[in-house]
Parts: sequence; structure tokens; C-alpha cells
Amino acid sequence: MEKNKFKVVITDCDHGSIEEEKKEFGRIGAELILAQIKEEEDLIRVCKEADGLINQYARLTRRVLENLPKCKVISRYGVGLDPVDLRAATDFGIIVANVPDYCVDEVADQALSMILALIRKTVFFDQKVKSDQWDFRQGRPIHRIKGKTLGLIGSGRIGLEVAKRISAFGVRVMAFDPYLQKTPAGIELMDLDTVLKESDFISIHCPLNEATRHLIGEKEFKKMAKKPLLINTSRGPIIDEKALIQALVEGRISGTGLDVLEKEPPDPQNPFLKMENVILSPHVGFYSEESIHELKRRAAKIVSMVLSGKWPKSVVNPEVKGTARAFNSKPSVN
Ligand code: NAD
Repeated sequence: MEKNKFKVVITDCDHGSIEEEKKEFGRIGAELILAQIKEEEDLIRVCKEADGLINQYARLTRRVLENLPKCKVISRYGVGLDPVDLRAATDFGIIVANVPDYCVDEVADQALSMILALIRKTVFFDQKVKSDQWDFRQGRPIHRIKGKTLGLIGSGRIGLEVAKRISAFGVRVMAFDPYLQKTPAGIELMDLDTVLKESDFISIHCPLNEATRHLIGEKEFKKMAKKPLLINTSRGPIIDEKALIQALVEGRISGTGLDVLEKEPPDPQNPFLKMENVILSPHVGFYSEESIHELKRRAAKIVSMVLSGKWPKSVVNPEVKGTARAFNSKPSVN
């Protein structure tokens, strides 16, 4: 039997099936191994002969990477790159790429569903009716959505999709995004103070980094003049949760919808769990059956492209070009 030309290892993955990946590697005649390992020693042992890796959570440290002499490419299931030592990968000529936009629609839908559920008090009423309380007056006041203002914090891929969706409801959209010079028609670019002051709903869509950690804290809650609803589908630590709890207790904001928390899952004593104007979901924004299929197909495609001599689009260490193990000569940009 002919030997496989390449060996690809999925270090770890919690998706259940790997049918998408099998299809992709079948096309280029690569052997595919689902290892489900996380320990350094196991990673070195199992991936030693691998030409490419697909990785979810397993930490690919410098020590692991320096022991993978054949590895040409690492593809991440998802956006974040925290598990991979990027500098080490570049030093060893390994291309690293991610799939940055597989769930933009899902997260935007999650944010919008939270805004609508909070405005119409859907979760609140559901709980009341199921505990035998049939009385719409318990939910007073409810306000009309049309004519209100949404403030985005971060107006990238997901923020823009939220803006598109909510515009259909007759809502004005403004955004704070210090890295943008302009935004598409219908989104007014503003400073943070104006967004905090004029918004009826605020939805967070910036990345978590040192500049955005606790971007929304006590000082910012005090600037929220219209008792807005606050939605976070981005990353928990962008909001100072202690300050958020205080703002809810003091009635500075009307409610909050959180798909992400500072600590996931929350402690059983977390006050959010008992607050009626707080709706929570378990960091599910990224997920739909379709988004996961797309993620898996595209993560596998990255590896098969590199092994077939092509340069994938979403390389996160482009400085590896020229020294990439995968290419003897300069790679052709696809
Ligand atoms: P993106 O890179 O397309 O957009 C992020 C935007 O934030 C950019 O326009 C950027 O300029 C802006 N920004 C950066 N720093 C800022 C700051 N200090 N203040 C305001 N804006 C700032 O990213 P995206 O695809 O729209 O994703 C946004 C975030 O959503 C991700 O960083 C991730 O944390 C989160 N996310 C969550 C889930 C989930 O399951 N809940 C899934 C995917 C992504």
C-alpha cells in the first residue's frame, strides 16, 4: 500500500466528529490522527513526525515546537492564539494561522437576541408565567425599541453585523472604536463618553487586551445617563463585574445580557444568578452547527493548503515568510 505523503495531527478537539477534516485530508492523501492530548511530553511524542497540526486548547510551547522538526503549519480551531508560542513558531519556520470570522453571524445574533429579550423582558415573563403568574404589569415599564440608540464599543466584523440587524428596527447606531477613521453609512463614530451618555443599549464588541481590560468600570457606569441595557458577547474582563453589580443594584443601568463572564463558569454565589434583569448564556455566541462545520473545514483547509504549497489568507505570523519550512522558494500568495 502506498504510504501517505503527509501526516497531520489534531492535538485536541471537543467537537465530537472530525468528518470535515477527514474529507479535506483525504483529498491530499494525508494521514490524519486525532490525538486528544495536552501534556508537553505527549505532544512531543505524538507530533514528532507531523507535517501539520490542528490545535484547540493544547499548549504548543517553545519546548514542544523545537521538538517537531517536520512541522510546517499550525492551524487553530478558532480566533484566539493564546495556546501557541507564536515567536517560537516563527523562529522554527512554522506558519501559524487561525479562522477569525467563522462565527460573526452567530455572535451578532446572540447580541441582538439578548437586546430584544431584555427590552421585551422575555426571560422575566417566561419565568413568571411558568410559576403561575399571568400578569403583564409585573414587567412594567417596557419601552418601544424604535427610535432608541445603540452604542457599539468596537465596530469590527461582529459590531457591524449587530448594527445592520438593529437598523431594521429603526434604531440609531453610534460606535466608539479608536482604531477606525470612518464607519459605514448609518453608524456614527463617537468618543466613548458620548456613547456612554447617549445610548439606550450598549453592546461590547472589542477584543480583550490591556487597553480594554475593565474598560467599563465604575467611572463609565456613572456616565451612562439613559440607564441603558449593557450587552457583552465579547470577553468577560472588559467589564469590571464588581462595578456592574453595583450599577445594577443602584439602578444606573436597566439590565444586562452576558454571554461571557470574568470567571466562567460563575461561582454559585455570583449575584448575577439571582438578578431578574440579568440574562446569562454559557459563552455560546460562537456556536451553531453551521459555524462549527465552517470552522473545522477552514482549519483543515489551512493545513492542506500549506502542504500543497499555497500560502493561506489568515496567517498570523506573516514574518515567517521567506524562512517558512513549507516553502523552499517564496510562497505564492493565494
Ligand atoms: P474585529 O477585530 O473584527 O473587531 C474588533 C473591533 O474592536 C475593531 O474594529 C477594533 O478597532 C476595535 N477595538 C480595538 N480596541 C478597542 C478599544 N480599546 N475600544 C473600542 N474598540 C476597540 O473582531 P470581531 O470578529 O468583531 O470580534 C470581536 C470580539 O468578539 C473578539 O475579540 C472576541 O473577544 C469576541 N468573540 C466572542 C465570541 C463568543 O463566543 N461570545 C465568539 C467570537 C468572538
